[in-house]
Amino acid sequence: MFPFHYQNLPLNVYFGKGRIRELRGILQENGYRRVLVMTTPDQQPAGERLAAELGDLAAGVYPHAVMHVPTEVAQAAVAYVREQQIDCCVALGGGSTIGLAKAVALETATPIAAVPTTYAGSEMTAVYGLTENGRKTTGKDLRVLPKVVVYDPDLTLTLPAGISAASGINAMAHAVEALYAENKNPIISMMASESVRALSRSLPAIVQNPQDEDARAQAFYGAWLAGMCLGAVGMAVHHKICHTLGGTFNLPHAQAHAIVLPYSVHYNRNADDEAMSRLAEALGIDDPQDCGMALYRLNQSLGIPMALAEIGLPEHGAQEVAQIVCDSPYYNPRPYVYDELYDLLNKAHHGLPPR
Ligand code: NAD
Repeated sequence: MFPFHYQNLPLNVYFGKGRIRELRGILQENGYRRVLVMTTPDQQPAGERLAAELGDLAAGVYPHAVMHVPTEVAQAAVAYVREQQIDCCVALGGGSTIGLAKAVALETATPIAAVPTTYAGSEMTAVYGLTENGRKTTGKDLRVLPKVVVYDPDLTLTLPAGISAASGINAMAHAVEALYAENKNPIISMMASESVRALSRSLPAIVQNPQDEDARAQAFYGAWLAGMCLGAVGMAVHHKICHTLGGTFNLPHAQAHAIVLPYSVHYNRNADDEAMSRLAEALGIDDPQDCGMALYRLNQSLGIPMALAEIGLPEHGAQEVAQIVCDSPYYNPRPYVYDELYDLLNKAHHGLPPR
């Protein structure tokens, strides 16, 4: 076995149906007395219900989270938290809401209690992102890592089937890239395999019936593990491509990840045999070379948009993304080859099979 480094992040996780009802007690145990419930505008009603359950602990609801945390939105939230003397931000929502709480934590060190409602996984990482003049910058700081995370699968029952599927494959992408990460280790690889297994089996059931409680719990479990992978090891070509699609072309985060994953995996099919064997096993297929195609067929069965053109990539997009990715690459277990990446991105643009 190869030598490795594994760091445990200091996090308290509560998982299970109905556990949101324990949030008030958990916050009190942590000594918080004046919490602010943060949401997107869409999730404000859910935020109001949660604030009502928290009673006198809740100072109110702040329903202003938006995708990719624009700096002006972050600054307004920082000012509000200071003015209201908030001692904990309860982020109820997906990566956008948790991202806003992280931006506040970065400036004010206000602790975060995260209550995720999508499969994005931000709650498990010390990574934050901020967008200024259309440019997204990211950084890592332990101050933004939530102190407490409550995963209650009941809160995901309202996530529409299409968003659930894309968000679930977005989570799977974290686990897949952890398997061939530069600093991969056996602990995280074990979590990654389990994550892929849980997500690949539960997402089809959720698309069939978004109210399937067992499948919702399985998917959330898989997403939690995927978030741990994302928080623990570095990502590779797939995340580089998706950050470019989001940053340069403003494509929707989860859908872009979901569409691109089969192509990224196909690109790396010979780059790390152990990773591909583990992935094949987790996906329940025999041939590790076929993982990209298996993910492509999974996306088809989930009704995810199959082509980047469908979610807004312009005609010249594939070429530009391939160039940006090659000019400023992340680590990847094999080199970045422009012609091959362009070919795959061109296929992704039109939703053609990766091979
Ligand atoms: P999101 O948070 O923007 O949520 C998507 C939409 O779904 C929103 O309109 C939201 O109101 C709605 N929604 C969320 N949960 C719902 C529910 N249960 N029922 C009904 N509607 C619901 O999307 P996301 O994919 O969760 O997060 C994407 C953002 O998170 C991106 O900005 C991405 O960069 C960031 N992210 C950051 C990290 C990190 O480690 N920092 C990790 C993953 C994602």
